[in-house]
Amino acid sequence: MSQWIFNIAYILFAVGTTVIRTPHQKRNKSNIITLDQKTTLEKVLLFMVSTGMMFLPLLYMFSPWLGFADYHLPIWLQWVGVGILGISLWLFYRSHKDLGRNWSVSLEIREEHSLITNGVYQHIRHPMYSSIWLWVIAQALLLPNYFAGLGGLIGFGALYFLRVSKEEDMMIEKFGEAYQDYMKVTNRLIPKF
Ligand code: SAH
Repeated sequence: MSQWIFNIAYILFAVGTTVIRTPHQKRNKSNIITLDQKTTLEKVLLFMVSTGMMFLPLLYMFSPWLGFADYHLPIWLQWVGVGILGISLWLFYRSHKDLGRNWSVSLEIREEHSLITNGVYQHIRHPMYSSIWLWVIAQALLLPNYFAGLGGLIGFGALYFLRVSKEEDMMIEKFGEAYQDYMKVTNRLIPKF
């Protein structure tokens, strides 16, 4: 069975995202936060995301417990998943780089927060979320198991749909017309040229 190749690809990808994010996380710890919208619901959703995207995949790879929920996918489709992971990693890197000190894991505005409309943000309003959507789609293709494969889509899907409007409202509250104008020239997830 070649499943181990796809398991390793998923682990390498997850390590890659951690390498990309950690320096931003460390540096942004010194940000002074002026508006914090991290509610209990956000915390529950973030827990669901880490369970769906990390814990269930690891349980699937390193224990037999989820074996009863496997599904079948043709190998070529799993390789398509590897390709999607590559695009996701690039976009994950670019969006962290472009957002810089304005990035946060939850909904926050910092002192000196600036509105980013350049780089990948010129074409997509939520490129980091686009990259995570690609990640969870690839996850379902790489890990053919109802829990490990679909956990990301369910966990991140819930976070995304409950968060994105609140995030945009928060940005309008902070940047007013500038953000509303920015919304007119961009889509949420798909590039607009
Ligand atoms: N939704 C964005 C950013 C995710 S990080 C994306 O998917 O790329 C979440 C934080 O980013 C939010 O708390 C908000 O303060 C900040 N943010 C979102 N869009 C921004 C933008 N265009 N410029 C500056 N900060 C932004």
